[in-house]
Amino acid sequence: MDLFAPSHLLILVIIALIFLVHFLPTIIAVRRKHTNALGIFLVNLFLGWTLIGWVVALVWAVSKGDQTLVLPCVRCGTSPQSGVARFCQKCGAPLPVGHGAYNPN
Ligand SMILES: [Zn+2]
Repeated sequence: MDLFAPSHLLILVIIALIFLVHFLPTIIAVRRKHTNALGIFLVNLFLGWTLIGWVVALVWAVSKGDQTLVLPCVRCGTSPQSGVARFCQKCGAPLPVGHGAYNPN
């Protein structure tokens, strides 16, 4: 048995490709310096073999990290529940400029 016989090389290449595709979400997360890269890796590792788990990891990897700057309302001090909210849900005051816009990703 020659490990480097052409047929074995083909199998190795196929295994490498499967490995690459399987860990694509982790690779994307690491390259994008995602804040939840470790969580994405774990979902990818343990649930990636299920199609659902792989898709979840991929969507998570391409999503923005959770480093969105959430500033409290300047009028009443309520923390906005949504990172994209423009107005305070309690008093209706406009939220600070740049609210929800800061994202290093
Ligand atoms: Zn408010």
